[in-house]
Amino acid sequence: MDIVLQKHLIKKHHIFFDHLKKNKDDIMLPIYFGFDCGDGWYHILDTLMGSIKHHQKFKKIEPIKIKQIKEKFGTLSFYYTGGDEYIHGLVSMASSMSARTCECCGTTDGVGMTSGGWYSVSCEDCFNKNFRLKDLKWNANPDVRILKISKLLKNG
Ligand SMILES: [Zn+2]
Repeated sequence: MDIVLQKHLIKKHHIFFDHLKKNKDDIMLPIYFGFDCGDGWYHILDTLMGSIKHHQKFKKIEPIKIKQIKEKFGTLSFYYTGGDEYIHGLVSMASSMSARTCECCGTTDGVGMTSGGWYSVSCEDCFNKNFRLKDLKWNANPDVRILKISKLLKNG
């Protein structure tokens, strides 16, 4: 993820990253490997962290400690310690949403999965721009067809 986006998320949701600071005057540094995923998942991460923060405040529980954020087998992996079953559910939902969101541009329209040695979630446009030179195939999500049919029926 772009460093500007990472820094913005860390600043906005700093309570999850404060444990990484050596002392209170340290600037917020990206977690060890940075956010090892594409810019397209920015909104998923922002929404996830915002929802966790809201829940923790409401339930008066300690902030989780985020350890690592990365893409693994085409979906978002969000490693943390602490939290409760509700937060576990939020993280699970965010991971499921990442499997339907282009990791490059963030669209949920016409998203598919690559195959042929590397799993990645992208729309067809981003696949053609970013993966054209690699020996990969792009496969549309089977739900894309039913969504297109639904749109056609609504538009008459
Ligand atoms: Zn895209």
